[in-house]
Amino acid sequence: MYNKPRAITIGGVGNVQKIDIGGDSPVTIQTMWKEGIADVKDNSGALNSVIADIDKLHSLGCDIIRFAVPDMDSAKSLCLIASNTSVPLVADIHFDYKLALECLKGPVAAIRINPGNIGSREKVEAVVNGCKEKNVAIRIGVNTGSLPQDLEEWVEQGSITRAKALAETARREASVFDSLDFKNVVVSMKASSVQETIEANEAFAKESDIPLHIGVTEAGPLITGVVKSTLAFSTLLNEGIGSTIRVSLSSTPENEVIAGRAILHECGKRNEGVTIVSCPRCGRVGFDVHGFINRWQETLLAMKKNITVAVMGCVVNGPGEGKHADIGIAGSGTKVVIFKKGKIVRTIDPKDTDNVFKEELESL
Ligand code: SF4
Repeated sequence: MYNKPRAITIGGVGNVQKIDIGGDSPVTIQTMWKEGIADVKDNSGALNSVIADIDKLHSLGCDIIRFAVPDMDSAKSLCLIASNTSVPLVADIHFDYKLALECLKGPVAAIRINPGNIGSREKVEAVVNGCKEKNVAIRIGVNTGSLPQDLEEWVEQGSITRAKALAETARREASVFDSLDFKNVVVSMKASSVQETIEANEAFAKESDIPLHIGVTEAGPLITGVVKSTLAFSTLLNEGIGSTIRVSLSSTPENEVIAGRAILHECGKRNEGVTIVSCPRCGRVGFDVHGFINRWQETLLAMKKNITVAVMGCVVNGPGEGKHADIGIAGSGTKVVIFKKGKIVRTIDPKDTDNVFKEELESL
């Protein structure tokens, strides 16, 4: 019913990791950089700090990071950043094709640009030729806030749904690249409504094999955004739609990556890495579950081990409920216990929690 997405690759230029998108490849996780980069210069503390943050996002499971490139300084900075990391980076460009050409001077993995907003065919062709030469992918990104005039009118007259208009907008943009025989394309169609996001992606996937980047735009703060994204993604992913995802949140990129990872895990699309199970806490709690999770979540998720870690408030249910966990921790009266596969292996003083847990974790 829906087309299997064609396989494309991004990255692989210079030091940059090559990633397969579409085909039978795993669904990839993306986030977007949330700050301006125009002031990031060579040999600056700002560059080191950006690279350190990219590394952290990568260790949490982020495969691809997109950067807004609103001006020439940002384009130059992105080239510099891309030359200093192996993580594939995407340049997000509106209107000015010269920014795309500037970004192509560095090892960027993909350019997000819409033919509809760069103007003449010559400009689109210049970008396409540059991308062909360096094997750089192009991502088309359309959203319900910027439909072409004729489609917007049809929507207002009720002759087409907004979701269908979104898919038609993407189809028109993609046809420009098709006519230039450029196949290394990903499409994203975003609405802030879950239903419209689902309908638009379904409509497009019925007609085209272009890999889809799925996301709900302006999804809101952490909890609302995760709920909306989960609803949209679980429907689409279970239908085989969606080769790469971004959970858009009014929150940190780290939370976007962690949320994306959890959604893919629960949809059965990615299973590697650490799975954390933890109890909500109740009146029986003998251990600061929430504090422990806050301290350890990112460290655990950055580990390259395929293990389950249980964090439980008490021994009433802790080791039992966590018996499938490779390692777990729970409160026990005035003590803390560490268990492996449901068997208690250490009973310790709460002040030694982090040190002993680290030791036991490393021994796995
Ligand atoms: S593990 Fe213990 S503290 Fe946590 S919810 Fe269950 S009974 Fe309550």
